[in-house]
Amino acid sequence: MLVTLIKGDGIGPEVAEAMKKVLKKAGSKVVFEEVNAGETVFKQEGTYIPDYVYKSIEKNKIAIKGPITTPIGHGFRSINVELRKKYDLYANIRPIKAPGPLDLKYDNVDFTIFRENTEDLYAGIEEKISDDEYHSIKIITRKKSERIIKAAFEYAINNKRKKVSVVTKANIMKLTDGLFLECARKISKDYPQIEFEEILVDNCAMQMVKNPSQFDVLVTENLYGDILSDLGAGLVGGLGLMPGVNKGDNISIYESIHGSAPDIANKDLANPTAMILTACLMLDDIGEIEISQKIRKAIYKSLSFKENYTRDLGGENSTSNFTEKIIENLGA
Ligand code: ATP
Repeated sequence: MLVTLIKGDGIGPEVAEAMKKVLKKAGSKVVFEEVNAGETVFKQEGTYIPDYVYKSIEKNKIAIKGPITTPIGHGFRSINVELRKKYDLYANIRPIKAPGPLDLKYDNVDFTIFRENTEDLYAGIEEKISDDEYHSIKIITRKKSERIIKAAFEYAINNKRKKVSVVTKANIMKLTDGLFLECARKISKDYPQIEFEEILVDNCAMQMVKNPSQFDVLVTENLYGDILSDLGAGLVGGLGLMPGVNKGDNISIYESIHGSAPDIANKDLANPTAMILTACLMLDDIGEIEISQKIRKAIYKSLSFKENYTRDLGGENSTSNFTEKIIENLGA
C-alpha cells in the first residue's frame, strides 16, 4: 500500500523518521512516497506546496504528514487549512486517551472528538468596518453540519461507543449553533442504540476538567473542537502524545495535533509518540490492525519506565533513544 509522506518542518523530519522505522520493524506493508511541503520547500522551490505533492495525495488518497510551519505573509493563511479545504477534509478526528501508564490526574480518560473542519469562524471571512471595528463571520450550514454529525454517530457504532455528545453554544448563537444542534437532534433519531447528549461548550470544558471519563464521542463545530481537543490533550499527557486525522469522503490526511515546535527542532528532543500513534490510526483504517495494536502495546510498555521519558514528559531521553525503546518492545 502506497502512502504519501510529507515530513514537514521543524521536528517533522525527526518524528517522521522515527515513525517510518517503527512501522518497518513492526512489519507494516506500507510503502511511503515521500514528498515535501512547507517552509523548507519554499526556500528551495519558491512554493509551499509543489504540484507533485497534490498529485501524490490525489493518486494515493492517503497521506501522513508532519507539522508544517504556518507561513506569515505569503499567500496561504495556513498550509494545513489549504489542504483541508482543497480536499474537503471535513472531519478532524482526535482520540483522547493516554498511550501509557503516565502519572496523570485521571487514568480512565477515553473519548474521541469529531471537529467540523471546513466552516465556522475558520471560513476566514473577516471585514474591516472602521479603524475601530472588525467583523468575523461565522458560517454554519445544514449540509456540513449533518455530515460531521453523521460521521460521529457512524464512528460510535463502528467502535462500540455508547454515547455521542453534541457541543454548542446554542442558547446564545440561536441561529448558527441552533442549526448545528437541530441537525444533531434529527440525526440522533437514526441511531436509537446510541445515547445522545446535548451540552453547552462552557459546561463541557468544565466537565472535561472535573470528570472527563463521562465523555465518549463528542461532535462539535470548528473553533470549539480546536479548543476542546487541546484541553483533552492536556488531560492525557500533552501534545507530544496526541494523534489525529483529517478525513474527507475520498482522501484522508493523518496528522498529529502538535505544531513544528521550532524551539526543539533538530536537537533529537521531540517526542515521536504522536506521529507514531497517528500512523497507527492510518494502519487501523487500511486494515493493518494487528500491526497497529503491536505498536500501541510497545509504546505503552516504553512509557511504563520514567527513564524512557522525553523532555515534554519531564524526562531526559532523546527522540532516537525513545524510538529504539519502542522497537525493542515490539516483541514484548
Ligand atoms: P503551531 O502554531 O505550529 O501549532 P505552536 O508553537 O503553537 O505551533 P507547537 O509547535 O505544537 O505549537 O509547540 C508547543 C509546545 O509544545 C512547544 O514548546 C513545543 O516544544 C512542544 N511540543 C510540541 N510537540 C512536541 C513533541 N512532539 N515533543 C515534544 N515537545 C513538543
